[in-house]
Amino acid sequence: MSKRILLLGAPGAGKGTQSKRLAEEYGIEHITTGDALRANKDMETEHGTPREYMDAGDLVPDAVVNEIVDAALADADGFVLDGYPRNLSQAEYLSEQTDLTAALFLDVGEDELIRRLTGRRMDPETGDIYHTEFNMPDDEEIEARLVQRDDDTEEVVKDRLETYYDNTEPVIDHYREQGALVEVDGEAHPDEVFERITDVVESEA
Ligand code: ADP
Ligand code: ADP
Repeated sequence: MSKRILLLGAPGAGKGTQSKRLAEEYGIEHITTGDALRANKDMETEHGTPREYMDAGDLVPDAVVNEIVDAALADADGFVLDGYPRNLSQAEYLSEQTDLTAALFLDVGEDELIRRLTGRRMDPETGDIYHTEFNMPDDEEIEARLVQRDDDTEEVVKDRLETYYDNTEPVIDHYREQGALVEVDGEAHPDEVFERITDVVESEA
């Protein structure tokens, strides 16, 4: 049966980096609410545009993100879910939609999160994730087109971490209390972290 993996972690923990690799490794969909919202940042909803929330480091209203996840789950057999659920009401919604084969928490300390977020760069053409210190492309053409996300500035990063502690840590506690969460130390080379994650995913299958 296809894998249905939930990857939890703070902003900057490495969820996007690892999810991309997991999707390739297992031939499953990468469902990421962050990318979906960035692609629709100025879409008018009855709650305003996603941009208003994202640029302030706040959560976009549940109704908007639940709809994105609903549509993505309907199209996916197996998946790795990245950036959702971010509060308890989203976690409840998710449990009504699907069962998971593995739930992992990527654990990274705050100093390292800030270093990773403020140095993050994105390739707008491929969506690939880079870092000014830890991971730059060899290709100069790619390097020249990299951009920094609007919300990866030091000021918004602080607000996003606060939003994470207030809203998303309770979600992690919730899965932990259910005995359903495997914690993975995310402070190592991306290859090493990937191996730790696949070890868990394969032992839970
Ligand atoms: P998230 O999706 O959890 O916000 P990303 O995967 O976008 O995190 O990673 C945040 C930043 O940290 C990116 O610049 C990425 O290149 C870098 N990064 C990811 N994993 C590691 C790692 N294991 N070691 C060092 N830097 C990393
Ligand atoms: P990161 O993993 O670095 O925090 P994401 O790309 O996952 O960043 O999310 C960027 C922004 O998109 C968040 O700060 C938030 O405003 C919004 N967002 C993403 N996922 C959700 C979600 N599940 N619920 C509410 N808002 C979300």
